Amino acid sequence: MARIAVIGAGVVGLAAALALRADGHEVIVFDRDPEGDKCSWGNAGALAVTEIVPRSGPGLLWKIPGWLLDPLGPLALRPGHLPRLLPWLARFLASGRAAEVAKAAAALAALHALTAGEWRRLLAATGMSGELRETGALTLYRTERGFAEDQRFWAISRAHGIAFEELTPSAARAMEPALTPDIARAVFTPGWMHVSDPKAIWAGLLAAARGRGIGIRRAEIASIAAPGVVADERFERILVAAGAWSARLVHSAGERALLEAERGYNTTLPRPGIEVGRELIFAEHHFVATPLAVGLRIGGAAEFAGLAAPPNYARAAALLTLARRYLPGLDPAGGTVWMGQRPSTPDSLPVIGLSPRRPDLAYAFGHGHLGLTQAAGTARLITELIAGRAPAIDPAPFAITRFA
Ligand SMILES: Cc1cc2nc3c(=O)[nH]c(=O)nc-3n(C[C@H](O)[C@H](O)[C@H](O)COP(=O)(O)OP(=O)(O)OC[C@H]3O[C@@H](n4cnc5c(N)ncnc54)[C@H](O)[C@@H]3O)c2cc1C
Repeated sequence: MARIAVIGAGVVGLAAALALRADGHEVIVFDRDPEGDKCSWGNAGALAVTEIVPRSGPGLLWKIPGWLLDPLGPLALRPGHLPRLLPWLARFLASGRAAEVAKAAAALAALHALTAGEWRRLLAATGMSGELRETGALTLYRTERGFAEDQRFWAISRAHGIAFEELTPSAARAMEPALTPDIARAVFTPGWMHVSDPKAIWAGLLAAARGRGIGIRRAEIASIAAPGVVADERFERILVAAGAWSARLVHSAGERALLEAERGYNTTLPRPGIEVGRELIFAEHHFVATPLAVGLRIGGAAEFAGLAAPPNYARAAALLTLARRYLPGLDPAGGTVWMGQRPSTPDSLPVIGLSPRRPDLAYAFGHGHLGLTQAAGTARLITELIAGRAPAIDPAPFAITRFA
């Protein structure tokens, strides 16, 4: 049994803290604002275990200018941030080579198969099984061209055994009557899941952590340069799970990670005026609508502006405008807007593993678009690595050494 400090009380840090505690360790979680807003609160709530294709891909470079110029487009970039973004962007584009995509997809398929079972176990152990929605997801295409362009995505998914079914537009509308008839193609993915409300899940994990004797401390950790020391306390292990802020801590320990705050926006409509039965994915426009207990949440997009830039909620409004094209009866009134900082690596793989340089250090960050999905699987993997047991899946693709 070890004394372990976890830095970060997001869904990743809390899931890991619970798994480490269940393994018999003494665990203290540090967060500068344990009960404050974080990426784990306002996300789309998907347990997107069927989503195993990394975000970069061949030919992506040529799409970026068009996306940047489109005010309703899925990508925004603050020009002042470009110089700092360049190393990440270069690695992102390099990760789009077919061989890299194949390797990352295989790693994600293994992690997602693990996390699906681990989430069921974690929700059951924390009394939250009833918060899981196993209604699948419907991916929608406005144009034949959009569908044709996504064939690479579906081929990789098929190769990894992901089940999906192409539907006619009328079959899709029979499933989701609120949809516009102006749909060219639809694909149903039955294995996709979502939760009732990501913030409620996070709160349930926090309550479970407290109930199991895990300490929750308010402290901003500026550095982990001193081995085994966090906030002047001594630990045998330190687990960095600080979301988009993790790179600073990693650098203070003399290691390197490429991590960007990939900001995303959404609007939650408590009274959307329509019924939506499952998560809808608007493929060409790269955003989603999820029916949550707190309302219909519409959002996505990616904005690169650094950690400190103020939010630009016009991005959330743009997605709402687009959503009305797919869901003509949508009432956009009375929504709450939100921005979150996704901790994104350029190769779409989280960093999960032990430090090669310091025996006290371990990592669980960089989950990008899928941190809720991957949290439970990450918790299992890092707990096994810390215990020195044979891990459930090959941890090599997630090692921090890939950035050395
Ligand atoms: C619009 C949007 C939609 C999304 N939808 C989904 C989805 O549907 N499904 C999905 O799986 N994922 C989704 N994500 C991604 C997901 O939300 C994130 O990957 C996940 O929440 C990251 O969790 P985390 O615990 O690593 O980070 P966070 O939730 O950000 O938690 C990090 C914590 O670390 C603390 N911290 C940071 N630095 C320090 C420090 N130095 N000292 C002390 N404390 C510190 C912070 O205060 C924070 O509480 C979405 C993200 C966005 C933005």
